[in-house]
Amino acid sequence: MVTEPFSPAEVIAVKRDKHQLSKAQINWFVDAYVRGDVAEEQMAAMAMAILLNGMTPTELSNWTQAYIDSGTTMNWSALGRATADKHSTGGVGDKITLPLVCVASACGLSVPQLSGRGLGHTGGTLDKLESIPGWRASLSESDMFEVLKSTGAVICAANATLAPADRRIYALRDVTATVESIALISASIMSKKIAEGTGALVLDVKVGSGAFMKTVDQARELAQTMVAIGNNAGVATRALLTAMDVPLGRSAGNALEVAECIDVLAGGGPSDVVELTVRLAQEMFEAAGVTPTKDPADSLTDGSAMDVWRRMITAQGGQIDAPLPTAKLTHVIGATQDGYLTKLDALAVGIASWRLGAGRARKEDSVQAGAGIVWHVGHGEPVKAGSPLFTLHTDEQERFAGAIEALSGGYSIGTSEEISDRLPLVIEKIQ
Ligand code: URA
Repeated sequence: MVTEPFSPAEVIAVKRDKHQLSKAQINWFVDAYVRGDVAEEQMAAMAMAILLNGMTPTELSNWTQAYIDSGTTMNWSALGRATADKHSTGGVGDKITLPLVCVASACGLSVPQLSGRGLGHTGGTLDKLESIPGWRASLSESDMFEVLKSTGAVICAANATLAPADRRIYALRDVTATVESIALISASIMSKKIAEGTGALVLDVKVGSGAFMKTVDQARELAQTMVAIGNNAGVATRALLTAMDVPLGRSAGNALEVAECIDVLAGGGPSDVVELTVRLAQEMFEAAGVTPTKDPADSLTDGSAMDVWRRMITAQGGQIDAPLPTAKLTHVIGATQDGYLTKLDALAVGIASWRLGAGRARKEDSVQAGAGIVWHVGHGEPVKAGSPLFTLHTDEQERFAGAIEALSGGYSIGTSEEISDRLPLVIEKIQ
């Protein structure tokens, strides 16, 4: 019989009483949970104690490392090229990963990105890419290496052996009202990124109605916490706080966003998507300590980022020249008067797009590849009575009503003086 060095209740009481957990206590608690010797209710009690009392930076680094040690880690040193990745905390119309990995690769970095599917009103990168006919999200580690070596970028699904403790604790947090803990969110995100083996990491922490973090103060705290965990683990990490009060680009939805990214890779596309892609690429190079072989913005206009895209998608089975799927039905919402689009709320657009079928309510739901929303007018731009404001896309007629209802309070038309204030695209940098 194995003699356990601690008892679960004794370790929980340390955090309950606002004391600092030792590395040995943390390692044992997480490991014993994975082994089944700490029960679900005991981990739930610990999660609540952490939510209420927080963790010191040392505790949090140890807690994150315990997640990493519960599974396997990846190593890309055989590539012979610096690696960098970016993680976004999620937003509406946030398709930046797709052009960004191509820009970073075209300018000299390798990007090994393990990504996820969307839940709720924010989209997931894998859902977007899976709208491309034939594209495969699941790769073995050796396939991942081959794609990375040959194209400089790979985006694929995280394998179940990466930080398995986090998977179980995340599911438990979901049903115990402990998702909101900044310490637990940070450990969850950073354990997966550190285990992925990237050398440098840029975090895009979204702020605003369409984001997880509604205020700059909350987002700053999350960013500072994650940056400290990354740097403590030897991954050069920095963060940008960026706007998610207004949705990014001109579309939300899977195939619709891929189409917009292809426009960006072809040198066009919405200016906010281009600006944020280029800025995050610059941050990735700076974090990695690598001088880009060219200005990242030039890779969008000279076709080199598009070349990476074509090779990367093809390497994962994607039919690069096949048409993207489209929804069976569309509905246009037109402007009722002349004026300006004085408000365009990210959350309203996100919920409407989700209700159209672009997102899922439960992990096991499927998404519609062609569903989503295109907004023809951006925040603060002029509109003409009768001209289209939004086109809604879905395969199922009955979804329109809920989407129109979600969108109805999320936009308004008025005079130029009535245009609502919005956050700057890049609010702050944390390093
Ligand atoms: N994403 C994660 O991976 N974990 C969290 O806790 C929150 C967002």
